[in-house]
Amino acid sequence: MSSNKSYYEILGIDTTTDVNGLKKAYKEKLLSIHPDKNRDSSQLGVTIDDLQRAYQVLVDSDLRANYDKELEESYKKQGFHNNGEGLDEYSLDEFYFDPATGFYCLDCPRCQMSRGFEISEEMLEEHCIERNSGGFHVVVQCSACSLWLNVNFDVVEEYEST
Ligand SMILES: [Zn+2]
Repeated sequence: MSSNKSYYEILGIDTTTDVNGLKKAYKEKLLSIHPDKNRDSSQLGVTIDDLQRAYQVLVDSDLRANYDKELEESYKKQGFHNNGEGLDEYSLDEFYFDPATGFYCLDCPRCQMSRGFEISEEMLEEHCIERNSGGFHVVVQCSACSLWLNVNFDVVEEYEST
């Protein structure tokens, strides 16, 4: 019996939670549904098997990277990324501009890939989405680990020479 919850949801953690946080959450969850404490663990919707499977995958960095990829794919199929909802928010100010390529670059906060994120001016123009709160955002993916980020920016005023 497999649940529809993601491993992150099963463990009650964030996709950015590190190994220490993961171990802590696992231990707490395990205690909370331990048969000695709570005979009817099924009412929580999560079994010890679920927990162990989730933990074993997420605690292994390779398995976790693979799982993240699958998760992103399934989110993509659901149209999850259409408007960037639920993604980590970044500001274009946090990117550094590389004058050699003309890209705004960011090392991936998840897999640490150097310049995992590169945004060109063209991308900003073509893929930007206007935000309700003003300004724009663009949804970009890491080239190495398929982490998606929602990058906010304000349009730089271009002064037209009249
Ligand atoms: Zn990455």
